[in-house]
Amino acid sequence: MSLFSAVEMAPRDPILGLNEQFAADTNPNKVNLGVGVYYDDNGKLPLLACVQKAEQAMMQAPKARGYLPIDGIAAYDSAVKNLVFGADSEPVKSGRVATVQGLGGTGGLKIGADFLKRLNPNAKVLISDPSWENHRALFTQAGFEVQSHRYYDAAKRGVDFDGMLADLKAAAPGTVVVLHACCHNPTGYDITPAQWDQVIATVKAGQLVPFLDMAYQGFGQGIAEDGVAVSKALAAGLSFFVSTSFSKSFSLYGERVGALSVLCQDKAEADRVLSQLKIMIRTNYSNPPTHGGSVVASVLNTPELRALWEEELAGMRTRIKQMRVALVEKLKAAGVQQDMGFITTQVGMFSYSGLNKDQMVRLRNEFGVYGTDTGRMCVAALNSKNIDYVCASIAKVI
Ligand code: PLP
Repeated sequence: MSLFSAVEMAPRDPILGLNEQFAADTNPNKVNLGVGVYYDDNGKLPLLACVQKAEQAMMQAPKARGYLPIDGIAAYDSAVKNLVFGADSEPVKSGRVATVQGLGGTGGLKIGADFLKRLNPNAKVLISDPSWENHRALFTQAGFEVQSHRYYDAAKRGVDFDGMLADLKAAAPGTVVVLHACCHNPTGYDITPAQWDQVIATVKAGQLVPFLDMAYQGFGQGIAEDGVAVSKALAAGLSFFVSTSFSKSFSLYGERVGALSVLCQDKAEADRVLSQLKIMIRTNYSNPPTHGGSVVASVLNTPELRALWEEELAGMRTRIKQMRVALVEKLKAAGVQQDMGFITTQVGMFSYSGLNKDQMVRLRNEFGVYGTDTGRMCVAALNSKNIDYVCASIAKVI
């Protein structure tokens, strides 16, 4: 009898399982639209020029790698605050934002979840239906009961906003509401600024705790535009959480660069919150790694590199939009009768294509075109070379 004989095999991660199946597929035309990764028009993961320049500068003045402070690089944390709230904003100036460097956006979410669990152990967590797969798992692992609020309306091909608002209104005070700040994953449907006003007002009236997940700032409409939820929550006087990820916006997936920011009511409160966040970090992984954070801090804090980053980010954003337009046109040209125009109303990396499970399985098995069973496709993995094949394949299964 082994210590581990009762250990059950955990279910495979659905996306990683899809990647394995893709790797084993011998179809020469295969296309992987299952991932949540931006590829350039040559199907390559970009290494941004701003990142390369920052790394070159770092190599010219090599530094020893001591432990970082528990909350990370000070220049990084302040760059995150400036990006999320604005360098001249009142919360940054008054010092009422507690920010810690995290291991990607996931790390920021987890530190926040652990802190919230200690703060209010009986609170429930609300996530959108559907949401990023890991939201439910992460908050459940942190000890919360996770429920979902209505979001996607398949018939309307958009957001069931009335349903969403009604579910938020019905939530008990103290409920943590995880909101996708922009580029909703998996659907690609965001709510409008006017709808954000209503969501924020509902959150405030119901004394809910907003947790904004910002994994795609700059991938939707622009860096400032994608911050609309933050500015509105700020203007409403709320205390709230923001997790930031630079995985996509810097194409630094493997460096695990992200952050958690908590907007408090004053500096004294922020200092106390920060001290607790540090305990969450200290008892999990002690302190964050140096490289990715140094690169991002250097890019964000050096005007010339910052301008280059904004340009490169705009390039990625524009290419995704072009792919959306091309997808609609080419699906039509390939003979798809139904209006697929909804694809251009979606934003960010993903598109809920409206295809059902059977169609997605056929796409995969017969054509080597991989998306998730829910119909989600990564538009950021389309390019001028694979899009015709993808459209022709979709046309055959619709
Ligand atoms: N939140 C959402 C909505 C995401 O889509 C992702 C990544 O796909 C994350 C968080 C996690 O980002 P990271 O890879 O930086 O941990």
